[in-house]
Amino acid sequence: MMKNVPINSFTKDELNKYILDLGEKNYRAKQVWKWLYVNGVKSFSEMSDIGIKLREKLHSNLDHNRLDIDQHQISKDGTQKWLFKLSDDRKIETVFIPETDRGTLCISSQVGCTLSCSFCHTGTMPLVRNLSTNEIIGQILAAKDGLEDWDIKNRKITNIVFMGMGEPLYNYQEVTRAIKILLDNEGLCYSRRKITLSTSGVVPIIQKLKYELDVSLAISLHAVNDDIRNILVPINKKWPIKELLSALEIYPGVNNSRRITFEYVMLDGVNDSINDAKKLVKLLKPIHAKVNLIPFNPWPGSIYKCSSEKTIKDFADEVCYNGGITATVRHARGQDILAACGQLKSNSVRLSREKVANINFV
Ligand code: SF4
Repeated sequence: MMKNVPINSFTKDELNKYILDLGEKNYRAKQVWKWLYVNGVKSFSEMSDIGIKLREKLHSNLDHNRLDIDQHQISKDGTQKWLFKLSDDRKIETVFIPETDRGTLCISSQVGCTLSCSFCHTGTMPLVRNLSTNEIIGQILAAKDGLEDWDIKNRKITNIVFMGMGEPLYNYQEVTRAIKILLDNEGLCYSRRKITLSTSGVVPIIQKLKYELDVSLAISLHAVNDDIRNILVPINKKWPIKELLSALEIYPGVNNSRRITFEYVMLDGVNDSINDAKKLVKLLKPIHAKVNLIPFNPWPGSIYKCSSEKTIKDFADEVCYNGGITATVRHARGQDILAACGQLKSNSVRLSREKVANINFV
C-alpha cells in the first residue's frame, strides 16, 4: 500500500483503481471524487456519506493537504497573487485576474523556468524543477478556496491558463494529468476551450498536443525574425520561426471560432516597428490566428522598455485593420504586486539574492 501519496495526484481512473484495491465498490471512488472536486472539502472527515472505516483508511494512507500559502496579495485593480511554499521549500506563484465577463487563473507548471526568455522575470530564476500533478491542481484548489469559488453555477475562475512560471510543454506528463483532472465532467468540469496552454514553441510536443489534449493554444512569438527571437526566446535556436509556424499551420481543429493566440510583447525599438507588424501579418496569414499584444511589464533589472502607447496602437492597427488579423492589447493587471505578465518570480529568490548581495558587501 502506498503511503502519503497526495490524493490530488490521482486521475479519476487511478483513484478508482485505488479504491477498488482497498476492497471497496467503485461508486465509492465517484463519491470521493465529488467531495474533492465538486464540494472542495479539505479533509476526509468532511466526506459525510463515506463510511468511517474507509475515511480512516484514506486518511492514514493518503495526503489531503492544500498547498501552503506563503503570501497572498491583492492588487488595487482586484488581481490576486498567491505565493505557495512547496514541500521542499521552493515557491511558486499563481495569479487570478478578474474581468467583467470572466475570471482567469494563471497557473505555474515549473519552479522557475529553463528557457531564460530575456524579457521575462521568471526566466532569471536559477531554481528549476517540474511541478507534480498535485502541485498544479493544488494551485487551483487553493485559489478556489480563497475566492470561495465552489458554486459551479456561479464560477469565479472561468478560465485557466498555463502562463505562470515555467514552460508547460517541458512538464508535459504532469501537465497532461492535471488537465485530465480539470476536464472531468463529474469533477472540476472545465471545458477544453477554457483551458489554454501557453508555449514558447516546443515543436515536437505541439504536434501531438491536439490529439492528446485538444485544449486552446497560445504561442509566445514576440518577434518576426530569427535574429531577434533567438535573443528574446532562446528556444528559437532549436525550433526557429519557420519550423514553429509550419507545425501550427497543420495544427488540426483550428478554425475561425477556435484560433491560436500569438503573444507578442511590445519592446521599445526591438520588435515594435510597422515593418515588424507587416511581417507578423505575413507570417500568420496561413494560420487561424489572433494576436495578443502585451505592453512590456518592467521588473527590477530588466534591460527593456515598453513601447509607447502610440507605437502599440499603430502596431495593433496595422495588424488588425490593414492586415485583417484580430489584435488585442492586453492591459497590464496587478502591476503593483508584480503579478503582470512576465513579472512572476518568487520572492524567495528575490530575497536570497538580496542576502547574497549583503554578504558580499560586508
Ligand atoms: S516567457 Fe515563459 S518560457 Fe520564457 S522564461 Fe518566461 S516563463 Fe519561461
